[in-house]
Amino acid sequence: MSTEEKSLNFIEHIIEDDLKAGFPNNSLRFRFPPEPNGYLHLGHATSICLNFGLGLKYNAPVNLRFDDTNPAKEEQEYVDAIKRDVEWLGYKWDKECYASDYFQELYNWAIQMIKNGKAYVDSQTSQEIAEQKGTPTQPGKDSPFRNRSVEENLSLFEKMKNGDVKEGEHVLRAKIDMTATNMLMRDPVMYRVLHKHHHRTADKWKIYPMYDWAHGESDYVEQVSHSLCTLEFLPHRELYDWFLDQIIDPNKVRPKQREFARRNVSHTVVSKRKLLKLVEEGVVSGWDDPRMPTISGLRRRGYTPASIRNFADSIGIAKRDNLVDVSHLEFCVREDLNKVAPRVMAVLDPVKLVITNYPEDKEEWLDAENNPEDESAGNRQVPFSRELYIEREDFKEEANRKFFRLTIGKEVRLKNGYIIQGESVVKDADGNITEIHCSYDPDTRSGSGTEASQRKVKGTLHWVSIQHAIPAEIRVYDRLFLVDSPDTDKEKDFMEFINPDSLHLTTGYLEPSLKDSAPEEVFQFQRIGYFAVDKESNQSKLVFNKTVGLRDSWGSKGN
Ligand code: ATP
Ligand code: MG
Repeated sequence: MSTEEKSLNFIEHIIEDDLKAGFPNNSLRFRFPPEPNGYLHLGHATSICLNFGLGLKYNAPVNLRFDDTNPAKEEQEYVDAIKRDVEWLGYKWDKECYASDYFQELYNWAIQMIKNGKAYVDSQTSQEIAEQKGTPTQPGKDSPFRNRSVEENLSLFEKMKNGDVKEGEHVLRAKIDMTATNMLMRDPVMYRVLHKHHHRTADKWKIYPMYDWAHGESDYVEQVSHSLCTLEFLPHRELYDWFLDQIIDPNKVRPKQREFARRNVSHTVVSKRKLLKLVEEGVVSGWDDPRMPTISGLRRRGYTPASIRNFADSIGIAKRDNLVDVSHLEFCVREDLNKVAPRVMAVLDPVKLVITNYPEDKEEWLDAENNPEDESAGNRQVPFSRELYIEREDFKEEANRKFFRLTIGKEVRLKNGYIIQGESVVKDADGNITEIHCSYDPDTRSGSGTEASQRKVKGTLHWVSIQHAIPAEIRVYDRLFLVDSPDTDKEKDFMEFINPDSLHLTTGYLEPSLKDSAPEEVFQFQRIGYFAVDKESNQSKLVFNKTVGLRDSWGSKGN
């Protein structure tokens, strides 16, 4: 479906109504505002696709705004990772902005508010302040410092700014209403003292603005028209508007905060704080571990930008928080990789197959199609010889009529090669099959056009020539969490639901065309699934990550 054909989501309705009411189209502006305290995850992808999608739809600029008001948790590494991930998803921001760029402007506005009697310095402890907040049914109490003179407030705020007071000694609060029904309106804190190094402003500032104070005013500085955030900010909207009222120039665009639902994905957690814990405790190898629901983890796993965009867009924007089954994400990547991933042959659980009537010293290079879904992908040559590997599960000595693979006395086709017939097996002392012997029909080569080659057989198997095969480390992943909603349990911490067995390593045998494959390339291992070359892969040791199986086999035999 094209964007035009899709029905409008409720955010688009809000914008359409604003345009109808006379808001100029060329004043539309959006922003994606991550805090650089972790890597972007699938939840962020929703917000990115929403904001940048609106930018494309309305031909409006979208800023990438780093909400960097908490120096304790923010780092340049995260800024770099966020930029890389947004770009990789395929979006272009208009301006790269930082809330910290507005520290001076915010400070000037705070001074103006003190002068207007709208802000005061409170010298109580945070505990005392919390105690006076009241409850949703009980009004709060005024601070004994609420009626300080403007002069005293200015001089104390100056001391806070210069670092002459300790952390926690004073805060600047907005003077609103300690009896307001909305608890957020009960004189919220605007600034706290923090003697911390900031990743951009270094040691210049000793006071740092709180989210509510910084966010709306940053939107205003950038002249963002629609500031879209997740539902938990709904009660903050009143404060967002109150702060704007204190500083607004009526000739400028007044940003509008609107809220949409958080996106949660099953069998994982989408919260930077929780993902950081997985990294710090060594549950995963890093933010880009292929089991992580981060954009960089998914990239390493073999996900394509289109598959993540389709995932976000196909679910749409909701008004209520929702849990999306991870199988929908897997469906999206399968659908995209089916179109673009080159097909190759690899055997992951090998058993030796000997073609007894094939000459020992012969080798042939057979023609193989790279992608039946894409003619322009062309063909390649795969080597064939007397001794091959096939998958152990593709052979049974005896089987019923529903088993369309290799058995003694039955025929199957070797993909891109010949029709073979099972003859006998060799077993070790424990009765395990070590070799399967078969014969081939030389007139049946795929694509040779002979009558024999047209013969219909029930099954086709993939294989690799043993002498040409290259071994590779194959990393197969299971769900990272054992339950679909690990972070909603009231009694147990999400860490208790970690799947202790989410990574399996095996050695696979690949056709030699994969020798020069490079990190992030993704292939379809025919009849098995999609596999991406890992960043740790090199020519002396190939490493592949299983992206996803060919079918949704979850529950029956895992994937
Ligand atoms: P986290 O809890 O993971 O730290 P956050 O909301 O604090 O998430 P921010 O960096 O502040 O993370 O988020 C940037 C933007 O992405 C915000 O507009 C936020 O609302 C949005 N966002 C974050 N998580 C989700 C989610 N799960 N679903 C939809 N949007 C999200
Ligand atoms: Mg946050």
